[in-house]
Amino acid sequence: RPLLSRNYASASSPHALIFLEHRQGVIDSGSLSALTAASQLGGQVTGLVVGSSEHVPTVVDKVKKLKGLTSLLHSTSDLYSQQLPETLAPLLQKLLSGSEYTHVVSTPTSLAKSLLPRVAAILDVPAVSEITSLEHDSSSNSTTFTRPIYAGNAISTVRLPSSVPIKFFTVRATNFDPAPSEESQEIDVKAVDPVDVQDCPTEHISTQLAKSDRPDLSVAGRVVSGGRPLKNAETFAATLNPLADILGAAVGASRAAVDAGYADNSLQVGQTGKVVAPELYMAIGISGAIQHLAGMKDSKMIVAVNKDPDAPIFQVADVGLVADLYEAVPQIIEKLKQ
Ligand SMILES: Cc1cc2nc3c(=O)[nH]c(=O)nc-3n(C[C@H](O)[C@H](O)[C@H](O)COP(=O)(O)OP(=O)(O)OC[C@H]3O[C@@H](n4cnc5c(N)ncnc54)[C@H](O)[C@@H]3O)c2cc1C
Repeated sequence: RPLLSRNYASASSPHALIFLEHRQGVIDSGSLSALTAASQLGGQVTGLVVGSSEHVPTVVDKVKKLKGLTSLLHSTSDLYSQQLPETLAPLLQKLLSGSEYTHVVSTPTSLAKSLLPRVAAILDVPAVSEITSLEHDSSSNSTTFTRPIYAGNAISTVRLPSSVPIKFFTVRATNFDPAPSEESQEIDVKAVDPVDVQDCPTEHISTQLAKSDRPDLSVAGRVVSGGRPLKNAETFAATLNPLADILGAAVGASRAAVDAGYADNSLQVGQTGKVVAPELYMAIGISGAIQHLAGMKDSKMIVAVNKDPDAPIFQVADVGLVADLYEAVPQIIEKLKQ
């Protein structure tokens, strides 16, 4: 009978490969959110950890306890001590070619944004970037994603049908809770051989990391951001750091502040900077251009201080103060001290 045959003909269940990122042995928090998203596909999830012998064992120990992972692969090589997309792509290509994997998942870090589309192109399949929700239909073997477009001003829904054998996507971390660890978890852990790359087209020379004692902007529970009226790097720091300190907050900046050299590039919030969704976001002297809003409008509580009552930031702010920031910020700090 048709009903029965339909039952028997049901398509294979999904099996995702998740590229788990780490820096110097510390697992990237976005990867934890990507794992939650991968689990929502409703099938198996295999993790992949790649790096040098210095870091891989530590990461593997932590990662194998993550809830939602059903197995774990790791690959160790000096070749992977600096994670270049050109050296990692051949490894992924080998793992995926002729495999049972149905999805490839990662967090949209700068590495993954370069790596996933590269491997997808090699395999001649599309890639969907920065999804905010997903739904897998096992019977039709299709996956439907939502993702923001036009700097977050529209949500597009896209479906990858069964004709796409491996579905690549990156996950916007602010839309998925990070996967927790489970002490008791026992999963299959397997080493895979690195893939040697002859004549690598790029060579890593050096990395300059912005150092900070503050919480990491992308995952901070509170963020204090400043814009163009902060005048210069000294005034920016002198005005915002005491407020961030008292709140235990990370510091962010608008593009105007970054372009003018008041703040490091790594602090830019927005469409072309970081996307944050903290409990508290304080926008100090920021007009609220759509490109800035794209990076912070999902924050739980938005506070704006701006002397222009018509500034667009007030349209998204939960609490707005029309005032000169040079008067208001010291007063807010005083109040918080009390
Ligand atoms: C392709 C593209 C990508 C972009 N990506 C980003 C991005 O990722 N992030 C981003 O932030 N921008 C981005 N931008 C730039 C964006 O369009 C705005 O130019 C920028 O956000 C403006 O920064 P701002 O709010 O600090 O400056 P302004 O727009 O100049 O606003 C300053 C605000 O401070 C107020 N102000 C002035 N003095 C005081 C005072 N004493 N006290 C209180 N308030 C005061 C003013 O009323 C004004 O509202 C992008 C633009 C483009 C074209």
